Amino acid sequence: REHIVPSLVQRPGVRQGSDPVRWSDIGGLDSVKQQLVESAVWAYTRADAYKELGIQPPRGVLLYGPPGTGKTLLAKAVATESAANFISVSIPELIKGEVGESEKALKEIFHSAQQSAPCVVFLDELDAIFGSRDASGEVGQQLITQLMLELDALHETNDAKDNGATAASAVILLAATNHPEVIDPAILRSGRLDRLVYVPPPCLADRQHILMLHMNRTPFEDALRAQLLNDECLLEGYTGADIAATVRMAALHALRRAPASHDHCLVSTLIMRAPTVP
Ligand code: ATP
Repeated sequence: REHIVPSLVQRPGVRQGSDPVRWSDIGGLDSVKQQLVESAVWAYTRADAYKELGIQPPRGVLLYGPPGTGKTLLAKAVATESAANFISVSIPELIKGEVGESEKALKEIFHSAQQSAPCVVFLDELDAIFGSRDASGEVGQQLITQLMLELDALHETNDAKDNGATAASAVILLAATNHPEVIDPAILRSGRLDRLVYVPPPCLADRQHILMLHMNRTPFEDALRAQLLNDECLLEGYTGADIAATVRMAALHALRRAPASHDHCLVSTLIMRAPTVP
């Protein structure tokens, strides 16, 4: 069902499609997943119920929280679980282009999303748009204005569809930031990115779950596996990304210790690094 737009794929920072991520691939974050089911997935899967109730589903969700806590994974999972296409955009990459180019690209992205609806558009590092400057050194107000125009248009198009037969062919915007404080409140007003979802650093139970998911892909010595999962202070201060990196490093260490191609690789030590979250 993927609708590939060649000119869009060539844009720096823009990617169409992703490897499918399911809720079950994401450790912990149960309440975040539930909020996303209600604020994004239902817009696709329960469009008729919204219509019956006479209310509009939300169209824009801002995920905010520290780096490496799974915001990108969550956005991909929303698309997979909604059977929607996925277009992801790195805002810092997008704004590197010539003056006027990023506005054009943004227009093209939303146009392509409509063409490939149902579709999730994911704007990563949204805060970068508010620090962007044009040739005269002015903050890229035009780009911000363009984003608001696209958000408003998205709402209108989706509303029109909700009244028609193709209720589930909506476009939803998900955006992510580590710096919600710099986001212009005009973007967050009702009808735009009006759902804010905090993605927190993982608690102990979440860290155990994340570690288990990553250990399941890598052979670990049973004793080490048991010791880790019983540790009350397991990977304190580590984010999901830190945990993934720790398992990767441990796997590489095991590879180094079993250099011959027929040697079995088994992880027997975890090398701890300084955690991201103090
Ligand atoms: P940033 O704010 O820096 O862009 P992010 O919040 O978008 O980070 P992701 O890119 O989703 O974080 O996560 C990076 C990697 O960390 C993932 O590809 C995954 O391997 C791992 N990871 C993070 N959170 C989780 C989680 N909850 N469950 C499983 N893996 C996770």
